[in-house]
Amino acid sequence: MVEREGRKDRCCSHATLQMDVTNLYIPHTDYRPQINCYIKSKWQELWDSFPENKLYRVKPTVETVSNAVPRKRRDDLVLTRARIGHTYLTHSYLLHGDERPYCIPCDCAVTVSHILVDCCEYSHIRQKYRVKPTVETVSNAVPRKRRDDLVLTRARIGHTYLTHSYLLHGDERPYCIPCDCAVTVSHILVDCCEYSHIRQKYYTVPDLKTLFQQTDPYLILDFLKESDLYRTF
Ligand SMILES: [Zn+2]
Ligand SMILES: [Zn+2]
Repeated sequence: MVEREGRKDRCCSHATLQMDVTNLYIPHTDYRPQINCYIKSKWQELWDSFPENKLYRVKPTVETVSNAVPRKRRDDLVLTRARIGHTYLTHSYLLHGDERPYCIPCDCAVTVSHILVDCCEYSHIRQKYRVKPTVETVSNAVPRKRRDDLVLTRARIGHTYLTHSYLLHGDERPYCIPCDCAVTVSHILVDCCEYSHIRQKYYTVPDLKTLFQQTDPYLILDFLKESDLYRTF
């Protein structure tokens, strides 16, 4: 998997530079997939540099939103508004110069996240549809400590004290002896057999991408705390 990704990466960024020179004419359209792929990777890189952007939590990849079942235009509009958190219900007060809408039973402001995840008024209907708290909404619900945010950001970008301090100290790269591989954030959070028993208590994911897209950040933090890795991130 890693090798395949590596190859894909190389194909994206260097294929156009490393091709052998031949006398065959190639239609310019043959380069289109590589160019598209390269541009997309640059776009993703740029987007990845804003992990704290509220929209990043909703959609961390620049890929097209899958539209397996064709939806009505109005449905798409509603979903898009829910994703960006701007709806008529929550924001029309700005247009009309009214008071910000307030949820009296819950004693808090009406936001998209509140309605979709927390509001007690709708909890019985929500349960029918098994609406789970999402990464985005859970992370907004309770303010995290600054240190927690730092640890999560470092985990997302894959640079932590544990995995990268060897560069500062001129040491050997840290190595996981039981697993016989280099210590990386992805290895610790997803694969390392040393921590699998603790990890299983908090989450089970196949890869890092799924972890950050579908796992409550508090569970990641709890895993790191219990495995005593929190302070090394
Ligand atoms: Zn409410
Ligand atoms: Zn390991």
